[in-house]
Amino acid sequence: MRYSFDCVVVGSGIAGMTAAIYLKRSNVNVLLLDNDAPGGLLNKISVIENYPGFDKISGPDLAYKIYEQVTNLGIEIRYGKVLDIKDHIVKTDIEEITTDKVILAVGRKARKLDNTNDIKNISYCALCDGNLYKDKIVAIVGYSNSAIEEAIYLSDICKKVIIIGRGSSFKGEDSLVDKIYSKKNIDVQLDCVIETLNKEKNLLNEIVTNKGIFKVDGMFVSIGYEPNTLFLNELEKDNGYIIVDNKMKTNIDYIYACGDIIKKDVYQLTTAVGEATIAAINVKKTL
Ligand SMILES: Cc1cc2nc3c(=O)[nH]c(=O)nc-3n(C[C@H](O)[C@H](O)[C@H](O)COP(=O)(O)OP(=O)(O)OC[C@H]3O[C@@H](n4cnc5c(N)ncnc54)[C@H](O)[C@@H]3O)c2cc1C
Repeated sequence: MRYSFDCVVVGSGIAGMTAAIYLKRSNVNVLLLDNDAPGGLLNKISVIENYPGFDKISGPDLAYKIYEQVTNLGIEIRYGKVLDIKDHIVKTDIEEITTDKVILAVGRKARKLDNTNDIKNISYCALCDGNLYKDKIVAIVGYSNSAIEEAIYLSDICKKVIIIGRGSSFKGEDSLVDKIYSKKNIDVQLDCVIETLNKEKNLLNEIVTNKGIFKVDGMFVSIGYEPNTLFLNELEKDNGYIIVDNKMKTNIDYIYACGDIIKKDVYQLTTAVGEATIAAINVKKTL
């Protein structure tokens, strides 16, 4: 069977774009597919300080630089939400594409707080919605690296930021934790559990916790992520994360995976880039 592409890369976050760059430079006929803007999670990061080559760069700026590299190489990008992959056919909500190999780089999405769908002033992205709360009081729920970064970003916009974390200490880089404690308008509440969210006309105005009641104008949530693998039930997974071998190959012979979607210990930009490189080089070897 002649395929339309040698390799379809699903997801144009940092992992997908990296894989596409390596493939195109090896003369592989590659297609990059996404149902959103290129960059994935990068578009939601205010400041990155741990990516080699940049002391400090915003996520959207890094995404744009990589995207420029992708377009300069002439890599074909198409819009489409992948619904299924079977027998070398990638089915999107728009078309069906035949391909020899597939690299999945679909990342993960923010975990939602239960029973909050009707509340309008709860956000899952400080970079996207922070400006709506200029000089206001907001809470951020979470105590991991992402929550800390978002709290620091919000503290430069909002009058006050209350961090509500269930844990007894932060789960984040020491330098970021130090920054939190150096900010005068960040109120840290650890061992703090939300009991009730009081609202008026679908707007949250009070967070009732075991540590007291906090009046807020809005709330940001950063309580972890879940993988974007609703499709592809026959892939071997652990808690939704795709299991790969050291070549980034899944249990299905022609499908590889890399980045935040795979089962691993460290979910960072640099690890996503490394895994994408391994996946692309191994795909090239098998074509
Ligand atoms: C707030 C925050 C701050 C962070 N800060 C840092 C940091 O400072 N340093 C660091 O190293 N890491 C940081 N990270 C982690 C880092 O952003 C991720 O590890 C990395 O971006 C993952 O890249 P990825 O390409 O695997 O996935 P993603 O960036 O999530 O890309 C996945 C892409 O797949 C697409 N997609 C999903 N499903 C489908 C489908 N069915 N069909 C088509 N396309 C699909 C999505 O639209 C998306 O574009 C941070 C994360 C967050 C949330």
